[in-house]
Amino acid sequence: MNAPLKIAMPAEASQAPKAYKLLIDGMHVDARDGRMIERSSPGHGFAVSRYAQAGAAEVEAAIEAAHKAFETGPWQRMKASERAAVLLKAADLIETRLEEIARLDALESGKPIAQARGEIGGAVDIWRYAASLARTLHGESYANLGDAMLGVVLREPIGVVSIITPWNFPFLIVSQKLPFALAAGCTAVVKPSEMTSASTFVLGDILLEAGLPAGVVNILAGLGADVGAPMVSHPLVEMVSFTGSTRVGKMTMAAASNSLKKVSMELGGKNGQIVFPDADLEAAADAAVFGGFFNAGECCNAGSRLIVHEAVADDFLGAVKALAEKVRVGDPLDDRTKVGAMISADHMAKVAGYVAAAKTDGGSVFSGGGLLASNAGQYLDPTIVRNVTEDMAIAREEVFGPVLSVLTFETIERALHIANNTPYGLSAGVWSASIDTCMSVARGVRSGTVWVNTFMEGYPELPFGGYKQSGLGRELGKRAVEDYTEEKTIQFHRGQRTGWWVG
Ligand code: NAD
Repeated sequence: MNAPLKIAMPAEASQAPKAYKLLIDGMHVDARDGRMIERSSPGHGFAVSRYAQAGAAEVEAAIEAAHKAFETGPWQRMKASERAAVLLKAADLIETRLEEIARLDALESGKPIAQARGEIGGAVDIWRYAASLARTLHGESYANLGDAMLGVVLREPIGVVSIITPWNFPFLIVSQKLPFALAAGCTAVVKPSEMTSASTFVLGDILLEAGLPAGVVNILAGLGADVGAPMVSHPLVEMVSFTGSTRVGKMTMAAASNSLKKVSMELGGKNGQIVFPDADLEAAADAAVFGGFFNAGECCNAGSRLIVHEAVADDFLGAVKALAEKVRVGDPLDDRTKVGAMISADHMAKVAGYVAAAKTDGGSVFSGGGLLASNAGQYLDPTIVRNVTEDMAIAREEVFGPVLSVLTFETIERALHIANNTPYGLSAGVWSASIDTCMSVARGVRSGTVWVNTFMEGYPELPFGGYKQSGLGRELGKRAVEDYTEEKTIQFHRGQRTGWWVG
């Protein structure tokens, strides 16, 4: 039995929780009925933030503000260079406040502070990339339609966008959406997760300071049913950009279909890392541990299934176990921590339930496997389950915790079958020294991203999104701004055309 984790109480624990107001039409406002949401730090167990809790009246006000800012405000009519300047200024301000934002995300989500710093640094890079795309967004022209005709295809901002985000990467995910919507000239209403809203409110302040006109971005804290649902069904909203679970994504898409809104869906994953005997097994073991336990496995891209060739399974898993046992679990605010707290007690119980069910179904816990005792907060031991079969829930469903399920194969066909045998298709990894093997897997896997001899790297230049029930559409990449536009075709005719029809 390990000694209980010692979680140090940070200065914030002895202060009143920080209060955040809603951002509507450039003003910080309370909810009309005065309701508040209180968030406890999952790593420490004290009240860290209080947000004004939006309801129907605030959703209406925020969408109307965004609509007014779109229709009559300067944002969509500005030169792209002016919009880009605001995004670049915002990136600089995020960079200046990086430590503060990282700390808020670590406190509210339980993620390790060093990792949070990396995410906010990544977000800065994305804001700068979006600014560059603002200036290169252009339509098309067609001078090949005959001498009297010129066709012009404009890219116009789609309008008001509802942006709904989850709790696992609070600042990073809003940064995968909002700067591209803004670069296109759209206005937005943003709803972060009710568990991790603080850093999005800081972003709102940064945007105002960077010169964003009032009403262009509005931020609402609140529950999915009270705030997210009307943000999806509202007739003045033209597009919904959603990241979250496949379950809620489906509900959101169905609701958006009533008014035929454009939707962008970044949903769950059940990603496999496939390891062949000729791989660099040391590197693959390292990546297996990183892929499985990064962000405590609360990650859409988690490599939660290790699909390992029979011939190397024992040796490889021995190496993975040795590394897993070295992973430092504990205080999210400790610079050395690799795995922090689980987002909520309910979620932790759900993850533990998957491990328990796998044991009942014939799986065996090879490493870790339990809740970790601590003086504060809620922590799970990084866990490896062997003897997993494809029909088990742990192999099919998104566990969203620090749990690696091991499945084995003998042929490449079988490895591909296992990798593809889930309703999801977000990402996959392949480890082999053979270009043929890597190419066969990369082509054969049905997922939006395949990492070859690496895992879970991300670059703003590369599109990201899912096949199958992992999503619809792509974020990032050079077309990310286009996603927030409509195409308008204009046909110019020189002179008076005659002889139309019967004349
Ligand atoms: P969730 O689906 O429970 O919630 C996501 C957001 O939707 C929250 O802001 C929530 O309040 C809101 N919401 C809930 N009900 C709603 C409704 N009826 N209408 C509109 N909005 C509603 O997801 P979560 O638990 O916050 O996040 C974890 C999930 O997100 C995992 O499934 C994970 O895979 C997924 N995710 C995907 C990606 C990706 O890029 N593919 C990235 C991160 C997380």
